[in-house]
Amino acid sequence: MAPTAAEQHTRKAVGLAARDASGHLSPLAITRSTGDDDVVIKILYCGICHSDLHSIKNDWKNAKYPMVPGHEITGEVNEVGKNVTKFKTGDRVGVGCMVNSCQSCESCNKGFENLCLGIIPTYNLVDLDGTITYGGYSSMVVVHERFVVRFPDTIPLEKGAPLLCAGITVYSPMKYHGLNIPGMHLGVLGLGGLGHVAVKFGKAFGMKVTVISSSPGKKQEALERLGADAFIVGKNDEEMKAAMSTMDGIINTVSANIPMAPLLGLLKPNGKMIMVGLPEKPMEIPPFALVATNKTLAGSLIGGMRDTQEMLDLAAKHNVTADIEVIGAEYVNTAMERLAKADVRYRFVIDIGNTLDKAAATTTE
Ligand code: NAP
Ligand code: ZN
Ligand code: ZN
Repeated sequence: MAPTAAEQHTRKAVGLAARDASGHLSPLAITRSTGDDDVVIKILYCGICHSDLHSIKNDWKNAKYPMVPGHEITGEVNEVGKNVTKFKTGDRVGVGCMVNSCQSCESCNKGFENLCLGIIPTYNLVDLDGTITYGGYSSMVVVHERFVVRFPDTIPLEKGAPLLCAGITVYSPMKYHGLNIPGMHLGVLGLGGLGHVAVKFGKAFGMKVTVISSSPGKKQEALERLGADAFIVGKNDEEMKAAMSTMDGIINTVSANIPMAPLLGLLKPNGKMIMVGLPEKPMEIPPFALVATNKTLAGSLIGGMRDTQEMLDLAAKHNVTADIEVIGAEYVNTAMERLAKADVRYRFVIDIGNTLDKAAATTTE
């Protein structure tokens, strides 16, 4: 029997979904609908961002279950819609935190789709057609071509996957807040997925980079492997005191609520702290910590599509990739437990292409 029109426009896939706030992930059969502007991507790798963990646990009180997380996606184009001009079958591509936006507002027109009020995040949002978006812990994704980036040949798909969220999230504020100037002193608060990429971009820009961490055990590799110039333990009063008023800017990637005043004290007068971390509870900021020496506290959400492509091309030029632990799909729940304890150097990446089908076939709920 010939397929119906609806069948022609849907593709079957499998994902790993959380069903409730326990966050436990297990296989789920899903469908993806395709359109004329869409790129159908066979997913090969997907990074595990801490936002995935916040989301499946409903930390931000906006979870829609079943939820298939994942927004650090790399893979290969399988098929393109008839209006697609930028990509063809077989291309190496990436997808980050959004799969669509209104494409016509001021933000979109300026290339800041990430700031569009009509942004469609890669997962956990009701899409225009009424379905919930499902992310990259899945075998396939269908994305409007504007939201697909070309993956540089020199970056391996697994080591590059985390750049699609972690990379752009730190690159964009460094660019727009002037924290990319050689010789400047950058603080990177929290050495996790985002933080370790921030260190690498800071060094690629020729900056002095200091890591501020809660994990003394990360010191040696921060200095030796990641190339940081200095390492401070946030709870070590002496180290913190010695670094007071020395930093031009801090990228704050910490996923938990921690006291802010001592950290703002690390900034020089007129210094800036950019929040990218998204702890669950409101932050307490003593006004004097900002006002006394003209400090700025700002926020930043991922980055636009043009900047994402620019970031990837720059990463290729400077050899910036993520330090990763590749895992099979069957390990994902253990990986989440480890991520909650900051026990990963520095990003888990799921080998979707080689392991998801098998995990889906053998796992029972
Ligand atoms: P991650 O890999 O878990 O890294 C977070 C780091 O924060 C940890 O490695 C740890 O570094 C530090 N940390 C965690 N708990 C802490 C605690 N109780 N006290 C002090 N430090 C603590 O997470 P990620 O994927 O980099 O994401 C970081 C945050 O950014 C998350 O909240 C995520 O949702 C958010 N995010 C935001 C955007 C955006 O667009 N703004 C995009 C992506 C992610 P140390 O061991 O060095 O202390
Ligand atoms: Zn993310
Ligand atoms: Zn828009």
